[in-house]
Amino acid sequence: MNNRMTLELPSLSENGPFARDAVAAFCARLDPTLDELSDVKTAVSEAVTNCIVHAYPNAPGTVRIECAAGRGALHIRVIDYGRGIADVARALEPFYTTLEGEERSGMGFTIMQAFMTNFSVHSEEGKGTTVCMRKVFARGPAQEAPAAESEAGGSKRASMRQEAESRGHGSPAAESGAGSGAGDEKDAGAAGEPSSPTQTDAPRARAADARR
Ligand code: ATP
Ligand code: MG
Repeated sequence: MNNRMTLELPSLSENGPFARDAVAAFCARLDPTLDELSDVKTAVSEAVTNCIVHAYPNAPGTVRIECAAGRGALHIRVIDYGRGIADVARALEPFYTTLEGEERSGMGFTIMQAFMTNFSVHSEEGKGTTVCMRKVFARGPAQEAPAAESEAGGSKRASMRQEAESRGHGSPAAESGAGSGAGDEKDAGAAGEPSSPTQTDAPRARAADARR
Protein backbone atom coordinates (compact mmCIF):
# COMPACT_ATOMS: atom_id res chain seq x y z
CA MET A 1 0.00 0.00 0.00
CA ASN A 2 1.23 3.46 -0.82
CA ASN A 3 2.23 5.77 1.94
CA ARG A 4 2.00 9.50 1.53
CA MET A 5 2.58 12.68 3.42
CA THR A 6 1.86 16.30 2.60
CA LEU A 7 3.21 19.24 4.54
CA GLU A 8 2.40 22.90 4.05
CA LEU A 9 4.44 25.47 5.87
CA PRO A 10 5.11 29.18 5.62
CA SER A 11 8.51 29.94 4.15
CA LEU A 12 10.10 30.84 7.46
CA SER A 13 13.71 29.88 7.96
CA GLU A 14 12.92 27.92 11.11
CA ASN A 15 10.68 25.63 9.07
CA GLY A 16 13.56 24.39 6.93
CA PRO A 17 14.94 22.00 9.55
CA PHE A 18 11.43 20.87 10.46
CA ALA A 19 10.59 20.01 6.87
CA ARG A 20 13.87 18.15 6.44
CA ASP A 21 13.35 16.13 9.62
CA ALA A 22 9.72 15.36 8.80
CA VAL A 23 10.72 13.92 5.43
CA ALA A 24 13.51 11.95 7.10
CA ALA A 25 11.03 10.48 9.57
CA PHE A 26 8.66 9.61 6.75
CA CYS A 27 11.29 7.79 4.72
CA ALA A 28 12.80 5.90 7.67
CA ARG A 29 10.32 3.08 7.00
CA LEU A 30 11.96 2.52 3.63
CA ASP A 31 15.04 1.36 5.51
CA PRO A 32 17.54 3.83 4.04
CA THR A 33 21.21 3.55 4.85
CA LEU A 34 22.61 6.44 6.87
CA ASP A 35 24.18 7.90 3.74
CA GLU A 36 20.93 7.64 1.81
CA LEU A 37 19.03 9.29 4.62
CA SER A 38 21.60 12.07 4.72
CA ASP A 39 21.29 12.52 0.96
CA VAL A 40 17.52 12.94 1.24
CA LYS A 41 17.81 15.36 4.13
CA THR A 42 20.36 17.45 2.30
CA ALA A 43 18.28 17.58 -0.88
CA VAL A 44 15.12 18.55 0.97
CA SER A 45 17.00 21.13 2.95
CA GLU A 46 18.37 22.71 -0.23
CA ALA A 47 14.99 22.71 -1.96
CA VAL A 48 13.16 24.23 1.00
CA THR A 49 15.91 26.80 1.55
CA ASN A 50 15.46 27.87 -2.07
CA CYS A 51 11.77 28.45 -1.43
CA ILE A 52 12.57 30.50 1.64
CA VAL A 53 15.36 32.52 0.06
CA HIS A 54 14.38 32.85 -3.59
CA ALA A 55 10.70 32.12 -4.09
CA TYR A 56 9.40 34.60 -1.56
CA PRO A 57 12.04 37.30 -1.17
CA ASN A 58 9.76 39.89 0.36
CA ALA A 59 7.16 38.14 2.50
CA PRO A 60 6.62 34.52 3.53
CA GLY A 61 4.57 32.33 1.25
CA THR A 62 3.50 28.71 1.23
CA VAL A 63 5.91 25.82 0.81
CA ARG A 64 4.23 22.49 0.06
CA ILE A 65 6.09 19.24 0.42
CA GLU A 66 4.58 16.08 -0.97
CA CYS A 67 6.13 12.71 -0.24
CA ALA A 68 5.17 9.28 -1.42
CA ALA A 69 6.90 6.02 -0.60
CA GLY A 70 6.82 2.59 -2.08
CA ARG A 71 8.92 -0.25 -3.49
CA GLY A 72 12.09 1.02 -1.95
CA ALA A 73 11.82 4.52 -3.40
CA LEU A 74 10.85 7.90 -2.06
CA HIS A 75 9.25 10.55 -4.24
CA ILE A 76 9.38 14.14 -3.09
CA ARG A 77 7.95 17.31 -4.52
CA VAL A 78 8.86 20.66 -3.06
CA ILE A 79 6.44 23.26 -4.37
CA ASP A 80 6.20 27.01 -4.00
CA TYR A 81 3.88 29.58 -5.51
CA GLY A 82 6.43 32.35 -5.57
CA ARG A 83 8.53 34.24 -8.02
CA GLY A 84 9.42 31.40 -10.32
CA ILE A 85 12.56 30.92 -12.40
CA ALA A 86 12.89 32.59 -15.79
CA ASP A 87 15.59 30.25 -17.12
CA VAL A 88 15.60 26.87 -15.41
CA ALA A 89 18.48 25.47 -17.47
CA ARG A 90 20.66 28.35 -16.37
CA ALA A 91 19.58 28.03 -12.75
CA LEU A 92 20.68 24.39 -12.79
CA GLU A 93 24.23 25.27 -13.76
CA PRO A 94 26.75 24.83 -10.96
CA PHE A 95 27.71 28.12 -9.33
CA TYR A 96 24.86 30.05 -10.94
CA THR A 97 23.14 32.24 -8.38
CA THR A 98 21.05 35.38 -8.52
CA LEU A 99 22.07 36.28 -4.99
CA GLU A 100 25.79 36.72 -5.32
CA GLY A 101 27.41 38.28 -2.32
CA GLU A 102 24.65 37.03 -0.05
CA GLU A 103 26.28 33.80 1.06
CA ARG A 104 24.78 31.90 -1.87
CA SER A 105 27.09 29.99 -4.13
CA GLY A 106 24.75 28.51 -6.67
CA MET A 107 25.25 24.90 -5.68
CA GLY A 108 21.87 23.94 -4.26
CA PHE A 109 20.41 22.41 -7.42
CA THR A 110 23.73 20.75 -8.20
CA ILE A 111 23.72 19.05 -4.83
CA MET A 112 20.10 17.93 -5.21
CA GLN A 113 20.93 16.41 -8.59
CA ALA A 114 23.96 14.61 -7.24
CA PHE A 115 22.27 13.18 -4.18
CA MET A 116 18.98 12.02 -5.62
CA THR A 117 18.31 9.27 -8.16
CA ASN A 118 16.05 11.48 -10.25
CA PHE A 119 15.65 15.22 -10.21
CA SER A 120 13.76 17.79 -12.24
CA VAL A 121 12.61 21.38 -11.89
CA HIS A 122 9.47 22.91 -13.35
CA SER A 123 8.92 26.61 -13.00
CA GLU A 124 6.91 29.48 -14.36
CA GLU A 125 7.76 33.07 -13.72
CA GLY A 126 5.33 34.68 -11.34
CA LYS A 127 3.61 31.38 -10.60
CA GLY A 128 6.08 29.25 -8.75
CA THR A 129 8.45 26.34 -8.85
CA THR A 130 8.18 22.60 -8.34
CA VAL A 131 11.24 20.48 -7.61
CA CYS A 132 10.60 16.78 -8.18
CA MET A 133 13.02 14.28 -6.71
CA ARG A 134 13.16 10.53 -6.35
CA LYS A 135 15.53 8.48 -4.25
CA VAL A 136 15.88 4.75 -4.67
CA PHE A 137 17.12 2.94 -1.59
CA ALA A 138 19.56 0.09 -1.97
CA ARG A 139 17.81 -2.09 0.60
CA GLY A 140 14.50 -1.77 -1.19
CA PRO A 141 12.95 -4.52 -3.32
CA ALA A 142 15.23 -5.84 -6.06
CA GLN A 143 13.13 -4.44 -8.92
CA GLU A 144 13.76 -0.94 -7.63
CA ALA A 145 17.45 -1.40 -7.00
CA PRO A 146 19.54 1.51 -8.27
CA ALA A 147 21.93 0.99 -11.14
CA ALA A 148 25.42 0.10 -10.04
CA GLU A 149 27.42 3.20 -9.40
CA SER A 150 30.55 3.67 -11.45
CA GLU A 151 33.80 4.25 -9.65
CA ALA A 152 33.95 7.77 -11.03
CA GLY A 153 30.39 8.42 -9.95
CA GLY A 154 31.15 7.05 -6.54
CA SER A 155 34.07 9.32 -5.92
CA LYS A 156 32.12 12.28 -7.28
CA ARG A 157 29.36 11.55 -4.83
CA ALA A 158 31.88 11.20 -2.04
CA SER A 159 33.23 14.66 -2.71
CA MET A 160 29.73 16.09 -3.01
CA ARG A 161 28.86 14.50 0.30
CA GLN A 162 31.91 16.10 1.83
CA GLU A 163 30.77 19.39 0.42
CA ALA A 164 27.25 18.99 1.76
CA GLU A 165 28.65 18.27 5.16
CA SER A 166 30.72 21.40 4.95
CA ARG A 167 27.52 23.25 4.03
CA GLY A 168 26.43 22.14 7.46
CA HIS A 169 24.15 19.31 6.51
CA GLY A 170 25.69 17.47 9.41
CA SER A 171 27.08 14.05 9.94
CA PRO A 172 25.22 10.96 8.83
CA ALA A 173 26.57 9.22 11.90
CA ALA A 174 24.33 11.38 14.04
CA GLU A 175 21.28 9.95 12.37
CA SER A 176 19.16 6.93 12.96
CA GLY A 177 18.26 5.31 9.70
CA ALA A 178 16.58 2.38 11.36
CA GLY A 179 13.26 1.20 10.15
CA SER A 180 11.80 -1.60 8.16
CA GLY A 181 9.40 -2.35 5.43
CA ALA A 182 8.71 -0.51 2.27
CA GLY A 183 5.75 0.79 0.46
CA ASP A 184 4.58 -1.09 -2.55
CA GLU A 185 3.78 1.50 -5.14
CA LYS A 186 5.85 2.24 -8.15
CA ASP A 187 5.16 5.84 -9.05
CA ALA A 188 3.32 7.40 -6.23
CA GLY A 189 1.17 10.46 -6.54
CA ALA A 190 3.75 12.85 -5.26
CA ALA A 191 5.93 11.76 -8.09
CA GLY A 192 5.69 12.41 -11.76
CA GLU A 193 9.34 13.02 -12.28
CA PRO A 194 11.03 12.12 -15.50
CA SER A 195 12.81 8.82 -15.25
CA SER A 196 16.23 9.79 -16.47
CA PRO A 197 18.64 10.55 -13.67
CA THR A 198 20.73 13.65 -13.92
CA GLN A 199 24.35 13.60 -12.87
CA THR A 200 26.48 16.60 -12.20
CA ASP A 201 29.88 17.37 -10.87
CA ALA A 202 31.52 20.48 -9.45
CA PRO A 203 32.20 19.92 -5.81
CA ARG A 204 32.98 22.89 -3.58
CA ALA A 205 32.90 23.63 0.09
CA ARG A 206 30.99 25.83 2.44
CA ALA A 207 29.16 25.77 5.73
CA ALA A 208 25.58 25.56 6.90
CA ASP A 209 23.76 23.43 9.44
CA ALA A 210 21.26 21.05 8.17
CA ARG A 211 21.73 17.37 8.89
CA ARG A 212 21.85 17.88 12.61
P1 ATP B 1 23.10 27.99 -2.79
O1 ATP B 1 22.03 26.96 -2.96
O2 ATP B 1 24.47 27.47 -3.10
O3 ATP B 1 23.01 28.68 -1.48
P2 ATP B 1 21.56 29.31 -4.76
O4 ATP B 1 20.34 29.04 -3.94
O5 ATP B 1 21.63 30.62 -5.45
O6 ATP B 1 22.86 29.14 -3.88
P3 ATP B 1 20.71 27.08 -6.32
O7 ATP B 1 19.99 26.48 -5.18
O8 ATP B 1 21.44 26.15 -7.23
O9 ATP B 1 21.75 28.16 -5.85
O10 ATP B 1 19.66 27.90 -7.19
C1 ATP B 1 20.13 28.59 -8.36
C2 ATP B 1 19.24 29.78 -8.66
O11 ATP B 1 17.94 29.34 -9.04
C3 ATP B 1 19.01 30.71 -7.49
O12 ATP B 1 20.06 31.66 -7.34
C4 ATP B 1 17.70 31.37 -7.86
O13 ATP B 1 17.89 32.43 -8.79
C5 ATP B 1 16.97 30.26 -8.59
N1 ATP B 1 16.02 29.54 -7.71
C6 ATP B 1 16.23 28.36 -7.09
N2 ATP B 1 15.13 27.94 -6.45
C7 ATP B 1 14.19 28.88 -6.66
C8 ATP B 1 12.81 29.04 -6.27
N3 ATP B 1 12.20 28.11 -5.51
N4 ATP B 1 12.16 30.14 -6.66
C9 ATP B 1 12.75 31.08 -7.44
N5 ATP B 1 14.04 31.00 -7.86
C10 ATP B 1 14.75 29.91 -7.47
MG1 MG C 1 19.94 27.17 -3.13
